[in-house]
Amino acid sequence: METERNSTSETGRAATTVWRRGGGKGYGLNYKPTTGSVADTIRLVPGEYRTRQLGPNGEEDTVTEYFPYRYHYDARHKRFINCSGGLYYKSKTKSEPCHACREFWDGMVPDPENPGRKKVGYINMVEGASAITVVHFGKYHKVPSVKNGKVSYKDDGTPWYEWARCQGKMCRLCNDPQTESKDAQRMYWSYMPSIQALLFDLDREINQFCPGCGGLQTIESLAWVCTACGQVAIDPTTTVLDEATIQQLTEDLFKCPACQQSVLLAEQVKCKDCGTDRRANIFDVNLKIKIVKTKPTDKKGTIRISYDPPAAVPKEFEGLMRPLKLNEILAPTPLEEQAKILQLELEPRPGQSLGQKFPVKERETESYDDTPAE
Ligand SMILES: [Zn+2]
Ligand SMILES: [Zn+2]
Ligand SMILES: [Zn+2]
Ligand SMILES: [Zn+2]
Repeated sequence: METERNSTSETGRAATTVWRRGGGKGYGLNYKPTTGSVADTIRLVPGEYRTRQLGPNGEEDTVTEYFPYRYHYDARHKRFINCSGGLYYKSKTKSEPCHACREFWDGMVPDPENPGRKKVGYINMVEGASAITVVHFGKYHKVPSVKNGKVSYKDDGTPWYEWARCQGKMCRLCNDPQTESKDAQRMYWSYMPSIQALLFDLDREINQFCPGCGGLQTIESLAWVCTACGQVAIDPTTTVLDEATIQQLTEDLFKCPACQQSVLLAEQVKCKDCGTDRRANIFDVNLKIKIVKTKPTDKKGTIRISYDPPAAVPKEFEGLMRPLKLNEILAPTPLEEQAKILQLELEPRPGQSLGQKFPVKERETESYDDTPAE
């Protein structure tokens, strides 16, 4: 199955460039965990993405290492559209214009299995997605960029190039002296909330390591301090609180008895072996990641992630450890482009009676996968 997705090229081309992927050609910038037997080795790279979210207390600005977003998949044209519906995309009156949202709501079709109810039509809405920068330590080859089955050329007549993942044993390019190759590629990985929860869980596990010496449980908690006034709120060496209570107190907002503010507490730590003053986190380790399919008919598969002990990134790859501008790469698709992708002028929506018949495709389950559809 082929897929197109908005992305930039490694050389920093405009964010509206559209890649076409398929037939084992280039992967653009969108990372997909391998379904092969050998797991990928990747490193997550934290960003600092400021986004406006709808929290329990209304609108709030949040800063996250991953980029939260929402997208649509148009199964008719096999294209992705990043939602432009804004914070209130579910509201009929407060949502921002988004052609894909409109097609999503209006394009619902009767569900034969649940009479009287409707199901998603040709376009879906994927909520709660996140994307994060990854560096994949694997072989990539520079190949001409193929769009609609044809090599795409620049104005000067030379082809656009992209980095394609090595196909392994069968790869012809590995021994081709004309082909440029490299051993790591920076991309982004788009995933669903269940995977975010898995990553948070792994992060908590990795917190038990020292990033300096890689020691396990060599980090000692010295104090939990108020982030507003600096007052020690919990002294782990003298406290009578048990670990579970401390965990609860430090995960929620804490009302500081000294300054009366409700804040998150910050932990001060030190490694008893090497003196490092922070805990390791998920960005300090290499992750081993793959999709396991239990049977050939299993389209979705199950993700497996494990990690190596914390270690520094090899010198030669240090330059790759910069976050991508995911807020630009995955920005809402402009309305004119959405109209073009959806071909709103040319094709009636399934179920619409413009005197022209269009085959209504069954919803494709893979477009609901934890990663965007292939
Ligand atoms: Zn939308
Ligand atoms: Zn190769
Ligand atoms: Zn240490
Ligand atoms: Zn305080």
